[in-house]
Amino acid sequence: MTMYDYLVVGSGLFGSTFAYEAAKRGKRIKVIEKRSHIGGNVYTEKVQDINVHKYGAHIFHTNNKEIWDYVNQFAEFNRYTNSPIANYKSEIYNLPFNMNTFNKLWGVVTPEAAKKKIEEQKNVLAGKTPVNLEEQAIALIGTDIYQKLIKGYTEKQWGRKATELPPFIIKRLPVRFTYDNNYFNDKYQGIPIGGYTQIIEKMLSSELIDVEVSTDFFNRKEEYMNEFPKIIYSGMIDQFFDYSLGTLEYRSLKFESKILDRENYQGNAVVNYTDAETPYTRIIEHKHFEFGNQKKTVVTKEYPSTWNKGDEPYYPLNDKRNNELYQQYKDLASKFPNVIFGGRLGMYKYFDMHQIIGAALATVKQEF
Ligand code: FAD
Repeated sequence: MTMYDYLVVGSGLFGSTFAYEAAKRGKRIKVIEKRSHIGGNVYTEKVQDINVHKYGAHIFHTNNKEIWDYVNQFAEFNRYTNSPIANYKSEIYNLPFNMNTFNKLWGVVTPEAAKKKIEEQKNVLAGKTPVNLEEQAIALIGTDIYQKLIKGYTEKQWGRKATELPPFIIKRLPVRFTYDNNYFNDKYQGIPIGGYTQIIEKMLSSELIDVEVSTDFFNRKEEYMNEFPKIIYSGMIDQFFDYSLGTLEYRSLKFESKILDRENYQGNAVVNYTDAETPYTRIIEHKHFEFGNQKKTVVTKEYPSTWNKGDEPYYPLNDKRNNELYQQYKDLASKFPNVIFGGRLGMYKYFDMHQIIGAALATVKQEF
């Protein structure tokens, strides 16, 4: 038997929050992580003195003051406000869709004029119930915004034509009739000054926590299951069961990063490329998350890609088939009371960072 109370599989925000809270309660924890570093997808690394978001841009935002205070104990956050812009064939538009966007598109100045224009354009559907994503988008926002800012981007994201995608993918669109480019409606948002990795480092810094990176749970699954009284598992739930009921599907991403010998490449942290021809969906210029003025800059192109077993599973494909399959795995998991399945991979659901911290704290509450 081991000296540890818990084995935590995965050092992302879920596993690390659990480990931190368990150590605070005097428990001994071993954390194993298959990547060569801790942090999961929030990991940031310094390149040219710039904190690079290695697994995609991460902006912390929440309406929950408790979660905001909780995460602020591990890092100081800056005043970064997410205001992405869209580049459609070199025309620049503000996001989310707001009065700045409408003014640039149609020259309208007042909210009334913008609403009128959108209503006119929605009429092309003549009240028909949308049967695909294209019709759904037009029903919500009209033809111009759909054609320039939604169609190409969405088709690249999903790897399918908008007419072949189900309407429910976009239930709502962020539309604002004010001149406000702040993407999120949340009360609190920002970026940890110095990056996210420090948050995970602090969470795992207790003497009661041992961390082993480059260690895959599946290399010693049987031993771990016998040795540890309890396991917090934040890897893929279907892999835990050796895919015995079938494989859950994801969308993946490929990142292509470059150091550029110039101070400022695109003037904004996030630029979405909304035409169909540009193969990537976004370019991230990392220094702008922290208002950096380094001499060089680091940019990352983000390419959506099909997920095959072995690729990084970024976004769960929560369609009917996968949700039903997940439910079957969840039922199977309930027969293993010594294993808690958590995090975005263990629960097969997209979670923002504040939600995953909330989910980990809820698990802690149940456990102690
Ligand atoms: P992860 O971070 O994935 O951690 C799981 C860890 O388990 C990984 O490190 C993995 O290597 C490890 N692991 C898996 N299997 C094994 C195994 N067999 N053995 C050992 N270790 C294993 N949220 C926001 O709030 N704002 C954003 O702007 C935002 N942007 C995002 C952008 C992208 C591209 C993506 C994909 C997500 C974004 N998120 C954002 C969500 C955020 O990344 C998640 O909420 C968070 O990372 C989930 O933490 P987790 O611990 O559940 O999963």
